[in-house]
Amino acid sequence: MEWKGRVVLITGASRGIGRAIAECMADRDVAIALNYRSDEMQARVTLEHIVAKGADGALFQADVSQSDQAKALVDDVLKRFGRIDVLVNNAGITRDTLLLRMSDEQWLQVMETNLNGAFYCTRAATKAMMKARFGRIVNIASIAGVAGNAGQANYSAAKAGLIGFTKAVARELASRNITVNAVAPGLVDTDMTSKMGRAAYDTLIQSVPLGRAGRPEEIGEAVRFLASSDYITGQTLVVDGGLVME
Ligand code: NAP
Repeated sequence: MEWKGRVVLITGASRGIGRAIAECMADRDVAIALNYRSDEMQARVTLEHIVAKGADGALFQADVSQSDQAKALVDDVLKRFGRIDVLVNNAGITRDTLLLRMSDEQWLQVMETNLNGAFYCTRAATKAMMKARFGRIVNIASIAGVAGNAGQANYSAAKAGLIGFTKAVARELASRNITVNAVAPGLVDTDMTSKMGRAAYDTLIQSVPLGRAGRPEEIGEAVRFLASSDYITGQTLVVDGGLVME
């Protein structure tokens, strides 16, 4: 894919992996729409970084777990930039606890953001992509959705759902030159993983064949690779230092 003139929408781009994806895509002649939910100050930092790399950009506040807000987000980006070539469904949350202690609310919050949010944004953006007969969609899943993770029944189910969604939509949209892929990160150092206890973190690192956590930019590079390809669709690229091997 030629990146010149492309418009990219990244959900959850105020920090962590979303910010790193934005930085990896930031080139001259690329416009990046940065979505965030609550942290405008951090979102502004992402914007400064991508502008410093020569990209055009703008911030879009929206809670993607709300259908109307996700639709308004896509409409606002189309109004501002005229098109969406690349959509990265990255916004995600965790509400970890063991199954027997998991409340309905903890289950639903994770589903609503991680799975429903990707559905709402993809459905809205796909209309414009179909008209343009071009689109690249990358969903940020997790190895929890591939292998499962104790204490994350909600998150593992949402991410496994996202992988199934990726394959179904890839089949539906292939004839319109729209590819749909997923990246499944392992343990990556961000605010999300800083909530883990030190002991659990150290134990997990010991099981990573490459012996360390991933860096957010290593996920960004994988997303850029999948968005750049014209001939990869319906795939999940695991980026986890070898933690899960199938
Ligand atoms: P993070 O540091 O906690 O950042 C989460 C981002 O998502 C923030 O920008 C946040 O916006 C945004 N967000 C959350 N709920 C949202 C909503 N309802 N609407 C719009 N934006 C929302 O997390 P991260 O580690 O970068 O994770 C990014 C993605 O990678 C997630 O999908 C996560 O599941 C996945 N992942 C992460 C890891 C890891 O080890 N870190 C591993 C596998 C997969 P605000 O700042 O405005 O709240």
